[in-house]
Amino acid sequence: SIVVVGSINMDLVVRVKRHPVPGETLLGSDYETHYGGKGANQAVAAARLLARPTPPKSAGPSPAPGVRMIGRVGQDEFGQQLRNALKREGINVSATLPIVAPTGVAFIAIDEEGQNTIIVSPGANHRLRPEHLSPAEFEGARVVVLQLEIPLETVRRAAELGRQAGAQVILNAAPAQKLPDKLLSHIDILVVNEIEALGLSGVKPDSPEMALEVAQLLTEKVPTVIITLGEQGAVWVSPQGRGHQPAPAVQAIDTTGAGDAFIGALAAALCEGRPLAQAVAHGCVAGALATTKTGAQSSLPWREEVCARLEL
Ligand code: ADP
Repeated sequence: SIVVVGSINMDLVVRVKRHPVPGETLLGSDYETHYGGKGANQAVAAARLLARPTPPKSAGPSPAPGVRMIGRVGQDEFGQQLRNALKREGINVSATLPIVAPTGVAFIAIDEEGQNTIIVSPGANHRLRPEHLSPAEFEGARVVVLQLEIPLETVRRAAELGRQAGAQVILNAAPAQKLPDKLLSHIDILVVNEIEALGLSGVKPDSPEMALEVAQLLTEKVPTVIITLGEQGAVWVSPQGRGHQPAPAVQAIDTTGAGDAFIGALAAALCEGRPLAQAVAHGCVAGALATTKTGAQSSLPWREEVCARLEL
């Protein structure tokens, strides 16, 4: 199974003609709510892509879900909605606890040019502490998926517990920030986009060739490094070799969620025992498909769509 430890947010989106300056009040559109948080998005992406055993004909409890989400939401309306949405995707949320704190919220304003400004209030996500994680929650995990929207100490502890359980530990080092070597020493696969790669290496991977060099540099810290390159796909460097996987050409209309779709597909493919190069190919297809629809969770593709593209 896959264990995701990470953030769960409600995204509140308002469209504006232009962004306000400090002290100014502007009127915007009706607001929309979207399910978000990198952790939750990646859990949903993985759940939609994981091959699941055909459910038994008889009614009764459904088969053990392939994805478990460990996180925190508030005991408020948003928290309930988000937790239920994960459940509906077949994700095990027994370790996604509602606590006395506001649910994480992202306030997103989008102007007419499509430029956005975002304020994230982590709320309950920042109350997930290392001591809240128990080894039992990682039992049977083949893949553990982590990002950086919960406290770093918790990410580190989750990586440690994932290793102990014999899982492959994936860190999507987003949003970009400095990472202690102590955390990286527990990671098997580091996945970053171009901006995060620049932050970690000091070099901007402008081309796939450049990105391979940067990934090679980063393998000093983590055995396997993947850099996603938007429409150029992704490169990977691992002890088994290296490669560039182009993305399929698509009509991209909204790239939100592409990175999360990539991670979810990568995790699902590795969980099924596929080799890294194939898992990266799955990630590239899922990422590309996510750009053809608007929104984050709403744009994440299903297994059938990805398989059709891969001609599986
Ligand atoms: P992030 O959203 O984290 O910045 P990327 O932009 O690198 O991540 O996108 C992740 C993956 O999604 C890429 O590796 C690629 O496979 C796919 N993707 C993103 N944008 C496009 C695009 N315009 N056309 C095709 N595939 C894309």
